[in-house]
Amino acid sequence: MIMNKRFLFSCLLIGSIAANLCGQDKPRVYILATGGTIAGIGASETSSGYIAGVVSVDKIIQSAPEILQLAQIKGEQVVNIPSQDMSEADWLIIAKRVNQLLSQADVTGIVITHGTDTMEETAFFLNLVVKSDKPVVLAGAMRPSTEISADGPMNVYEAVAVAASPLSIGKGVMIVMDDKILSADDAMKTMTTALETFKCPNFGFLGYLWDSKPIFTRNSLVKHTIHSEFDVADVDILPKVAIVYGYAGIDSLFVATAVRKGVNGIVYAGVGNGNPNTANLNALADAVKHGIPVVRSARTPFGPTTQHDEVDDDKYRFSASWFKTPEKSRILLMLALMKTKDYKEIQRMFVEY
Ligand code: GLU
Repeated sequence: MIMNKRFLFSCLLIGSIAANLCGQDKPRVYILATGGTIAGIGASETSSGYIAGVVSVDKIIQSAPEILQLAQIKGEQVVNIPSQDMSEADWLIIAKRVNQLLSQADVTGIVITHGTDTMEETAFFLNLVVKSDKPVVLAGAMRPSTEISADGPMNVYEAVAVAASPLSIGKGVMIVMDDKILSADDAMKTMTTALETFKCPNFGFLGYLWDSKPIFTRNSLVKHTIHSEFDVADVDILPKVAIVYGYAGIDSLFVATAVRKGVNGIVYAGVGNGNPNTANLNALADAVKHGIPVVRSARTPFGPTTQHDEVDDDKYRFSASWFKTPEKSRILLMLALMKTKDYKEIQRMFVEY
């Protein structure tokens, strides 16, 4: 009996040393690559011209070999596109794969490499449909992989550090760029070319990275991931929602065309606090009468679009987007429309998510 216990202990010890040497005791992080500048190749080391979405996931992993000290890494190429070509079909593929991987007990977290142009949209979509509290982290780059001082490798390294950390559990889907950790609900690309382009303009960063470790300074209190009511497991196609961008002198042509083309919902990016002019107020009211829900959002970048300031939302049966930008409002409305067309119920969702 004593011999057996000693034998067992020795086996466990040898097993644990072997696992250690092979890195098997490390967190397991999947990198799902989708393209973008991080996978981009420039004409030279100094030129700003480049083609996004060329370099493969293996090359991205090789560009930051230090990630192997943080985690066991597995890479998958989901798509390889500039993120302006990201589509709802791609979102469904990514979301289903993320949910599949995170349901495996041995998967700690996921990093998604992505173009920065629509990164905040993919992150917000995932924030609403991922069914796990394990970390999901998007990362990208502002400089292509061939440029001097490319930012991609460090962003990937820091994204893996966040995805591998137990501190990141339950934080919702995050973006890691430029040493910052951003929540999917508030993150926004704010400058076309700068490295420090991503901000959380309404509520501030979730945290920072220091010495390869995430330091969280706040939580996002909106509903996300395991608390979300939205599920795309059996969904192949999402409702069609159009955004109409308001400006001085806009006529009702665009709302009318959206209605005629058979959209399922409209987000109006109004001026100021989401205000439509008179022509569009009437056109939007007509859309609602045709059974097409309308969400008033704002082209004004920061702050909430609130109910009942200059527009009587109850009278017109509009919902207001609160802190969601028009593009995030579109995503939330697409998911909301899978459940309801009731403006009050849609309003509840815009307040809660
Ligand atoms: N337009 C490209 C994209 O979004 C490049 C922008 C970037 O990744 O920084 O994929």
